Amino acid sequence: MLRVGVTGGIGSGKSTVSRRLAELGAHVVDADLVAREVVEPGEPTLQRIRERFGDEVMRADGTLDRAALAAVVFPDPEALGALDAITGPAIAQRVAQQRAAAPDDAVSVYDMPLLVERGLWVHEHLAVVVEADVETRVRRLVEQRGLGEDDARHRIAAQATDAQRRAACDVVLDNSGTPEDLVGPVDALWHSRLLPYAVNLASGSRARRPERASECVVEPRADWEARAERVVARMAAALATTGVVTEVSHIGSTSVPGLLAKDVIDVQVGVRQLAEADREDVRAAFLDAGYVFSHGNHSDTPHPQGADAAGWTKRFLGGCDPGNQVHVHVREHGSAGWRFALLFRDWLRHEPAERESYAAEKRRLLALHETTSDYVEAKEPWFEGAWHRANAWAERTGWQPR
Ligand code: ADP
Repeated sequence: MLRVGVTGGIGSGKSTVSRRLAELGAHVVDADLVAREVVEPGEPTLQRIRERFGDEVMRADGTLDRAALAAVVFPDPEALGALDAITGPAIAQRVAQQRAAAPDDAVSVYDMPLLVERGLWVHEHLAVVVEADVETRVRRLVEQRGLGEDDARHRIAAQATDAQRRAACDVVLDNSGTPEDLVGPVDALWHSRLLPYAVNLASGSRARRPERASECVVEPRADWEARAERVVARMAAALATTGVVTEVSHIGSTSVPGLLAKDVIDVQVGVRQLAEADREDVRAAFLDAGYVFSHGNHSDTPHPQGADAAGWTKRFLGGCDPGNQVHVHVREHGSAGWRFALLFRDWLRHEPAERESYAAEKRRLLALHETTSDYVEAKEPWFEGAWHRANAWAERTGWQPR
């Protein structure tokens, strides 16, 4: 099942987007709705709220007096924390139940205003933010939802900023136009990314890079670092409970600012022991996060030439997202291959002349090779020399893997 978080500031149009996704076939869980359900009469959560905040937050008919509760908790951070501690787990449990009920090949959308504030985006395969500028949102909230202007501004100020949401979200939907303007981009997202991503996940297929080298290798992209940061954060979260991971790092050419590269984010997952990467729970965690093991791709070329191949074995996985190609190299922490991946990145980041020489080599090979596979293979010999120069640099500078 593909998990998609949809978020946005209040009045941005988040619910409007979720409704369209539901029309297209998504299974939508609305956090606000669940938050209301868990405090309905008869719910244990309502009883706990009554015990903590007293009868003054209850109406005579036994329902929650939301306005009275808001008046108690909003001015008092401690009370707000106590309320969150009561409702949070109940909401999370019900959301999980509702999402688990969707079929395996479903697109499960979680419509959640606080997806970023609560750090919940890391558990979604994709996070989508709906944006509209503050004045537009205030106008919509006042005119269409009947909020007072001060109230609307106050609520907006209490939430994350657009920049904070953007950093955590993979897709930005602009809703500054009419509701009709929003339909096209939502439909395009559904067909070009969400559906193929869900199909890949359900069938255990990774997204493939373009096989034409000239399409695959691109000039440096401004979003590589942010894309990688999200991949790293999600991977670390997904694997945390396995206890085998030492660190997750962005490596490869996309981690070197200014370098042209295949439009594929490379990530290295350090593990205590490589054999642990084959454990069933570890594979299941990778797959749940959207990464599929590749058989028959278990080693890198050892350096220097003739070195013991044992230090250069790895496991390799590919991501299922067709909109963000990711390659994952699982290597044993401290192994020669693990160390070189980190050294190579840091060396190229710090040595402009080496970066230029690598870029020149890439351009030369791109002119010679049509397919991405041939191009990748042709790059190999350059790495032997690079290994020696990078190690000389490490010795000169005292570089250590972090
Ligand atoms: P959110 O769920 O992010 O708080 P909603 O989807 O409920 O936002 O949208 C807020 C209000 O603005 C709703 O009344 C909705 O019908 C309206 N709205 C949403 N998108 C637009 C738009 N593009 N133009 C005008 N009104 C809109």
